[in-house]
Amino acid sequence: MLILITNDDGIHSAGLQALADQLQSFGRVVVVAPDRERSAVGHALTLHVPLRAEEIAPGRWAVSGTPTDAVSLGIHGLLKEKPSLVISGINKGGNMGDDLTYSGTVAAAMEATLMGVPAMAVSLVGPHYKYGDFAHAASVAAQLAATVVEHGLPADTFINVNVPNIAPLGIRLTRQGKRVYEESVIQNRDPRGRSYYWIGAGDLGFQNLDGTDFHAVHNGYVSVTPLHMDLTNYAAMDRLRQWHMEEMSLPADEEGPAT
Ligand code: MN
Repeated sequence: MLILITNDDGIHSAGLQALADQLQSFGRVVVVAPDRERSAVGHALTLHVPLRAEEIAPGRWAVSGTPTDAVSLGIHGLLKEKPSLVISGINKGGNMGDDLTYSGTVAAAMEATLMGVPAMAVSLVGPHYKYGDFAHAASVAAQLAATVVEHGLPADTFINVNVPNIAPLGIRLTRQGKRVYEESVIQNRDPRGRSYYWIGAGDLGFQNLDGTDFHAVHNGYVSVTPLHMDLTNYAAMDRLRQWHMEEMSLPADEEGPAT
């Protein structure tokens, strides 16, 4: 079984190495990952400059683009066969709640899902990121990878896994939680007296709601959230139907409606 591993922390990240090492016994591992840190690039694609991919060791490809580029290039260009599974991580830091929309780690799993390959994103929550600190997360990832392969995933669905930075107490199936964003822009002056700004440097809070990813990890559990790409807010459709937008008449073209 072929497993494609990627991340957004770059190919030299200890978290990616720990994940690749752990999965060696489970299948044939190929790494296709950004050649440098690309955290928080979301689902960005490189469209206006050429992409380079260098095989820095057998089965280890460093790509000059984003995590999404790496998955796309891996599946469509570099691998001889379609992988059975794509795992993105292990990210240095949690990917929970509203943060998912920024996450390159999660977007890589999203890209694999768009290509019809089962995928999971794995992140380690917590402050220490030496190779050894990824041990629990790597073994959880391998266990969940086996479970995903055994059961298969629902259509258009991947799993987002967040592991606490301790020996986890168990696994909780969760929903996406909610961040509390406040005072997250820091303003300062550079040595030449010009203002500069730093986004997201503060210690962000979260709503500690039962059943969420944040709540599970905060209480020492591994959080597993099934995600899909459909951003439609179905509950809001009934409200918006009362706006009667569909009955609005729009200014007509002089030629009449296009045919
Ligand atoms: Mn990252």
